[in-house]
Amino acid sequence: MKALFTLGLLLCFDQANALPDDRPVPGGIAVVEIPLNSTAQFEGDPVLTTSANGRQLAIVGISLKAIPGAATLTTSTGPVQFNIVSKNYLTESLTIPDQDKVTPPARDYPRIQRERSEMNSVFTSFSRTNVNMDFALPVMGRTSSSFGKRRILNGLAKNPHSGMDIAAPQGTPVSAPTSGRVAATGNYFFNGNTVLLDHGQGLITLYCHLSQIGVKAGDLVNKGDILGAVGQTGRVTGPHLHWSVSLNNNRVDPALLLMPNQE
Ligand code: ZN
Repeated sequence: MKALFTLGLLLCFDQANALPDDRPVPGGIAVVEIPLNSTAQFEGDPVLTTSANGRQLAIVGISLKAIPGAATLTTSTGPVQFNIVSKNYLTESLTIPDQDKVTPPARDYPRIQRERSEMNSVFTSFSRTNVNMDFALPVMGRTSSSFGKRRILNGLAKNPHSGMDIAAPQGTPVSAPTSGRVAATGNYFFNGNTVLLDHGQGLITLYCHLSQIGVKAGDLVNKGDILGAVGQTGRVTGPHLHWSVSLNNNRVDPALLLMPNQE
């Protein structure tokens, strides 16, 4: 019985301590050791912290717009420095059949603004809970566009790609990569049918262009629970899942959470 209990405890610890890859680049994640029992902030936003092997670690999301060089984490026990190194992202040109989704008509501006602030309020939310960073792919399929690519849409330079695109047939189930709470759902101008999950401590994930939404705000989900189905709603060239991961209000490369280190 005691052995079983110990095993259970060890398994729990393993899972709780799954860590993302340490890639301190623009659009990446820095795993930074901070003094024990301290909290951390980066550029004014609270940062996810976790413990592993008796060490306290800050899991810092870095903006794609970050300038490489020295960066400072503000902790409750003083500043901690880390270094952001440069990374070059490729450029891709896409043709969107619906020109209004590239250059929206003025009548859609209020809707776009409203949806942006709704999503921003989720991205900036922060609940002090334990976070399970042991992620699985939300849908099986081919990565059709990776995170961070500079984008030319119908000949116009647009924001870089803020997530990972996974191509899969319309109707393919999309599942939660780890446990969390449904923070919002909606039919958004650019993102189409969308689900936002809150995994705690500012780790938020976003699922876009769904054909159907199978959850509602406030639902608790476990890893593998169905959120909806792949579709082509919003600004798309075909059916796929757009999946974004946000840490301390910075969108980061989802691939960094897929092969976590176990400490
Ligand atoms: Zn995308």
